[in-house]
Order: sequence, then C-alpha cells, then structure tokens
Amino acid sequence: MEGLKKRSKEIDMNIDFEKMDGLVPAIVQDAISGVVLMQGYMNEEALAVTQESGMVTFFSRSKNRLWTKGETSGNFMELVSITEDCDGDSILVKANPRGPVCHTGSDTCFDEVNSSKTGFIDQLRAIIKDRKNNPTDTSYTASLFAKGINKVAQKVGEEAVEIVIEAKDDNKELFMGEAADLLYHYLVLLEAKGYELDEVMDVLIDRHKNK
Ligand SMILES: [Zn+2]
Repeated sequence: MEGLKKRSKEIDMNIDFEKMDGLVPAIVQDAISGVVLMQGYMNEEALAVTQESGMVTFFSRSKNRLWTKGETSGNFMELVSITEDCDGDSILVKANPRGPVCHTGSDTCFDEVNSSKTGFIDQLRAIIKDRKNNPTDTSYTASLFAKGINKVAQKVGEEAVEIVIEAKDDNKELFMGEAADLLYHYLVLLEAKGYELDEVMDVLIDRHKNK
C-alpha cells in the first residue's frame, strides 16, 4: 500500500510564519477516519522536522522547545500529508496515530472516540483507481483490470460463495479473510464499471429517505 505513505514533501509550502510571529496553528486529523485529533503550533523548524522525520512535531510553548508528539508516551503520530490553508496561516496535518493522542488517555484532545476505520475504504478506492490508470506488472489489482469486466465479476461471484461457506463455519479469521476479499473485489468491480461508491451510497440514501 505504498500509496498511503506518499507524503507531500515535494509540495512547496508557502506558510507565512512572519505574519504569525513565528508560530502557526497546526490541526492534526486522522488520515483514515478524518477525526480531528489535536491542535498544536509549528514554527518553521517544527515543520521541517515533521517532514524529515515523518513524525508530527510541534513547537511546545510550555516546554519552549520542539516537541515530537509521542516522544515520551511512544504514541507517535505518523505523517501522511501536510497542507496549508488558503492564506498560508494555518496547517492541516493528516496522520496515523500509533495510540491515544491525548495525555488524558483519550483518543483525541477533544475527548472524541476515534475508532472508525471505514474511511480507509476511500483510500483503498484511490489505490484501486491508481492501479487501473497506472498499471504495473506486479499489481494483482492491475492484472484483474487487464483480464476485463467478466473476470472481475466472476471473482466477485467466487468470493461471495466463499463467504457463504465461511458463514456456516465458526472460524472468525477465515470469515474475516473472505469478508475482506469480497469487499475488495466488489470495489474493483465498481471501478471496472466506471462507477463510484458514492453512487451506490446515493441509492441507499434515497431508499432511506423514502421510508
Ligand atoms: Zn490532549
């Protein structure tokens, strides 16, 4: 899943540190769930260290020094991407937290639960789309697209049968494996047809409205 690790290192940041007296607020969002994890401040050095180390680092006003989140707790936040806002005075960081973010033990500094991983489906869809548009010899996904729609549809059918078989047994690990296979091949089928998952959601939302 190298697509997930792509950092925005190459992107030229244009943050106006001067306007902000050297410290710019940095909002950190879970890269998968989208939940806001915490907010801190970065100076130019903290931003550079974050980009170089891949671990989100702030300038701590109370410690009066650079502070890498997790340096004592081990709950680092692994950098996924950094963007600036429209007028260059705020930073949005997307990261994967290794554990609870807040010193209180909460998932986030806003005391919110951050357990949903369904946002990963969107990342998976982006990777599947990329494999379709930029196929490589080693990619299983690209090989499915190369075989054509009938083969992809057939795979969904096979995986559906396999999950039915596992549903009758009591082995969670095997069932989860088939559940993941079915979901993945279903997403590949949607992409092969040129449809978006959001269009499926629209159908479900409409049905719900009509109830
Ligand atoms: Zn906190």
